[in-house]
Amino acid sequence: MRKSIPTPVVGLAIALTAFGSSALQAHGLQEATEAAGVAGLKSIEFSGTGNWFQFGQAPNPNSAWPPFDVKNYTADINYETASARVQYLRSQVVEAGRARPAPVEQRGIQFISGGTAWNEAITGNAENIQPAAVEERTAEIWSTPQGFLKAALANNATTKAVDGGTEVSFTVGGKYRYVGKINPFNQVAQVNTWIDNPVLGDTLLETKFSDYKDFGGIQFPSHIVRSQGGYPVLDINVTSARANPGVDIKVPQDLAKPPAVTVTSEKLADGVYYLTGGTHHSLAIEQTDHIAIIEAPLNEERSQAVIAKAKELIPNKPINFLINTHAHFDHAGGLRTFVDEGAAIVTHSPNQAYYEKVWATPHSLSPDRLEKSKKTAKFESFNGKHVLADSKHPIEVHSIAGNGHNDAFVLVYLPNEKILIEADAFTPTAANAPIPTALNPYAVNLYENIQKLNLNVDKIAALHGPRVATLADLRAVAGIQQAAK
Ligand SMILES: [Zn+2]
Repeated sequence: MRKSIPTPVVGLAIALTAFGSSALQAHGLQEATEAAGVAGLKSIEFSGTGNWFQFGQAPNPNSAWPPFDVKNYTADINYETASARVQYLRSQVVEAGRARPAPVEQRGIQFISGGTAWNEAITGNAENIQPAAVEERTAEIWSTPQGFLKAALANNATTKAVDGGTEVSFTVGGKYRYVGKINPFNQVAQVNTWIDNPVLGDTLLETKFSDYKDFGGIQFPSHIVRSQGGYPVLDINVTSARANPGVDIKVPQDLAKPPAVTVTSEKLADGVYYLTGGTHHSLAIEQTDHIAIIEAPLNEERSQAVIAKAKELIPNKPINFLINTHAHFDHAGGLRTFVDEGAAIVTHSPNQAYYEKVWATPHSLSPDRLEKSKKTAKFESFNGKHVLADSKHPIEVHSIAGNGHNDAFVLVYLPNEKILIEADAFTPTAANAPIPTALNPYAVNLYENIQKLNLNVDKIAALHGPRVATLADLRAVAGIQQAAK
């Protein structure tokens, strides 16, 4: 990824002259800068406990991001090098009435440095590059009180009096807009900025700070609430903060480059192609006068590659349908590309209103095909069962009832080929991997739905995982010992 945000290392004295003509309005910014101890501050560390929320993974298109308990959250930020390390220990909160797998405590370490983002997975210490996280992690550096003030000074901020405080606005790198508020106590109370998301477009990242305290000589909020796309992603009670810890974060020399987007195909039956080659899969089905694609995961880049492969495999037919399993962002990030391609989106009813609402947001930070064409999305949404009829390859789409993973969730069944297609309810493991001992309630529920719908399943082409599975594989993880039909 290119380095899009320069490090604000402009000296305090030089920057403040920009406000000389507006001394009254600049007062809040100057006072806040002094109160926050920005001069001489190179780095900061803060720790706390609270909640982290999984952005883009709402269990229902109308609900907030699902919560995790965070026992140990520590952020180390070096403002001079625009780098940061965030460490946490989290476990999912199981919402009342929702069947989820038993929570597992996960430790994570996330990094950003010089426009490169990566994670250090604790198991095996494998480091993996995270290009999609660069914007967000960079924004988090300048969405701390001291980071915001430093960025304001370095980017010719403008100020105006509002509600007894001061609003401070500036743009970083000619692209990323920041608007913050300094309260009457000269404390940064809120920072708003916008980053791109393939589903939500220009997405508000809003951070609110309250209950400032003196942490051993540095003024820092003891409560931080960050929201992304309208719902909280972090709610932390800060228990310690310190100025100028040693924070030396360098991109690991052996960090692998981002993998190229590749789509490989496996012919499962005549006219039925399993499109893999990454973490998220799709299928292309040939119908009489058109193509139907199942799933548009991740982003436009992935969709473009899936479209190209489908047209290569099934030439001279338009893509008229895109079947979407659910609205989780990793399964919906490529949908807009198919809208522009002219495909009708086939999805469970509650998702239609959600997509229509969120797709109305501008995608100005990273314009996609639909942002340019402004086409209106076509939907074939349904409850229960929907059929894309065809003489050779009919496609059935069924609601998955009562699954804890998602409330607006569908499976796809090809009755002539006896192939089931689903995402996230069951993910096969490698053929020789041991069967997990704990039952997965999502898989148990999927099996119950298959029985109730009386589907005669031969193969399962899951939208994650390393191989085509069988009903016996699903039975094993669902704890079904004997053949049930
Ligand atoms: Zn999901």
